[in-house]
Amino acid sequence: MKKIVMPIGKKLFLSHFLAVLLVSGSIGTYFYLSAYESLLHSLKSRLQSSAAMISQALDARDLSPINHQEDQSLPVYRETLGLLRSIKKTNPDIAFLYLMRQEGNRVFFVVDSDETRAQALPGREYKQTIPALWEGFSRPAVDDKIFEDDWGAFMSGYAPLKNGNGAYLVGLDMRADEVQRKFQRLQISGLLSLVASVLLALLFSRWLSSHFKRPIKQLVSRCSAIAEGKIGEKMELRTGDELDHLIKAFNTMTEHLEDSRDRNRWAQSALKKGQEELERRVEERTRELQGVNDQLREEITRRQKTEEALARVARSDPLTGLMNRRAMMYWFQYQLKHYQRNRIPFAVLLCDIDHFKQVNDTYGHAVGDLVLRDMAEFLKESLRSQDLLARWGGEEFLILLPDTDEAGGAVVAEKIRSRIEKELFRDGSREFRLSLSFGVAAYQPEQSADDCIKAADAAMYRAKNSGRNRVEMANGPKPGHSPSSSREEAETSLSLNSSESSILRQAGAV
Ligand code: GH3
Ligand code: MG
Ligand code: MG
Repeated sequence: MKKIVMPIGKKLFLSHFLAVLLVSGSIGTYFYLSAYESLLHSLKSRLQSSAAMISQALDARDLSPINHQEDQSLPVYRETLGLLRSIKKTNPDIAFLYLMRQEGNRVFFVVDSDETRAQALPGREYKQTIPALWEGFSRPAVDDKIFEDDWGAFMSGYAPLKNGNGAYLVGLDMRADEVQRKFQRLQISGLLSLVASVLLALLFSRWLSSHFKRPIKQLVSRCSAIAEGKIGEKMELRTGDELDHLIKAFNTMTEHLEDSRDRNRWAQSALKKGQEELERRVEERTRELQGVNDQLREEITRRQKTEEALARVARSDPLTGLMNRRAMMYWFQYQLKHYQRNRIPFAVLLCDIDHFKQVNDTYGHAVGDLVLRDMAEFLKESLRSQDLLARWGGEEFLILLPDTDEAGGAVVAEKIRSRIEKELFRDGSREFRLSLSFGVAAYQPEQSADDCIKAADAAMYRAKNSGRNRVEMANGPKPGHSPSSSREEAETSLSLNSSESSILRQAGAV
């Protein structure tokens, strides 16, 4: 079954309208019917009482001579007719007044007030008899409803005449149209009251439905507004009933909603501000930290450079750029440990420029410095990449030859020595020659570094004392007597691993 969808306003209107219509219709019908009844009753009693009253004004004994048409000329007929007509005139409701006589089962007119040609003349039989008429001969009676006869449609009242012994009666007719007019008036007033009650029902129902509809509509539109975020407005409507409680509760809810929305907004903006402040601080701190980091990095780089420079200074000779004594000692220890592991020989050459003091004295100290640098370059070029060269002091140089025995070392020393003595050193246009004296010492097992160097030093002094520009070996035969092991052999047997080579290069090895 399909559900009837109807707005609440229409439902309220219809229910109220039907209820009011039902009540007012029932009441109206009740009043209409009772008014109808009372009108009918009053009509009947008026007809009956009028008939009874008139019956008392006439004496039936006077009427006995009036029997035929010709009796119209009788004075009693005229008198009676005049009386009836005067009574009729004084009562405009009455259409006809007449006197009748009963003879057996038949009824005859005696006098008829009718002033038209249709007047019933004395002795005329009346054939449309009805129960009330017969009753009227013995006691006052009245028609229950409208009856129709030769003269028209009437409602009639009857009463027996005084001294008539049930044979005479007076009848009076009220025209049906007159009666109906009275009933119509009643109907119209009933109808008008019905229309008025319908209108009232309409108005009342409209008012009642709008009374409920308005606040509901407002509530619905406020709910929609709240759903769209427009919380602010309050409902001002007053109905004076329970709906006021609903509106009040709704307004309270709106206030709470507004409060919580405001609190929410405030909290959100506070949160946003807090976040912005935090972000600002984090940025600030990050910037500061970055600044400090940069400074630290700079400082570290600066220190590293300084340390590197210091380390460089600590391990190198400022004039020639060669390793200094300390650096050489480090590598000497390293070589010594290498020897202890592998028993691969290594040799130390200590050389000293002969009569160097004279260079200084002759050409000046600056030239002496230049000579020392040139000598350093010359020695470097004369050595292998894995050989180590250091300025040992003054005009003395120490050469460490890995994987080389004493004889091999002597070969190297000799080679250098012989090349130097042929070399021409220059100071401007002036040329001079130099020579080197060498002491060669191969490292001996269980020897300390100092002992080994001292052995080379002693050999070099022997070379000095033997006339300079020569090579002296600490342990082996003198050069000239061919050494037992050759430089070439030493070179081929040399094998440093790659990490050792790189360390040596860093340390200033040649
Ligand atoms: P010998 O043949 O006995 O070695 O004689 P020598 O003159 O070379 O030896 P000596 O010990 O008498 O003199 C060494 C000189 O070397 C003395 C010193 O002034 C000089 N000398 C030392 N270091 C430097 C330096 O760095 N630069 C210069 N120009 N001269 C230096
Ligand atoms: Mg010297
Ligand atoms: Mg010297």
